[in-house]
Amino acid sequence: MRRQYLHLCAYACDKCGGPVIAGTVAVRENDISKETDIRQVGAVCLSCGHRQSNATAPAPVRHLLPIEWAPVSASPADHLTTAYAEAVNRAEPH
Ligand SMILES: [Zn+2]
Repeated sequence: MRRQYLHLCAYACDKCGGPVIAGTVAVRENDISKETDIRQVGAVCLSCGHRQSNATAPAPVRHLLPIEWAPVSASPADHLTTAYAEAVNRAEPH
């Protein structure tokens, strides 16, 4: 069973020292296989909004437990384009 997992980790923000939460997603083809297709999905400081994608030493990185996450097929931009195309199609007379 192919599943996608979301991994979250937390580390200190360079700017304000607040908690940065960073996420990666990885795919597991079955329960015993290694994770593949590992991608960063973003990182942001909860206190100041600074997008810091990597932890800087000596701050430790705390890893949270992986969460099963349903794959997202389309990016937000694709979704908007599709919605726009649908709206245009509806507006045309049949
Ligand atoms: Zn910050």
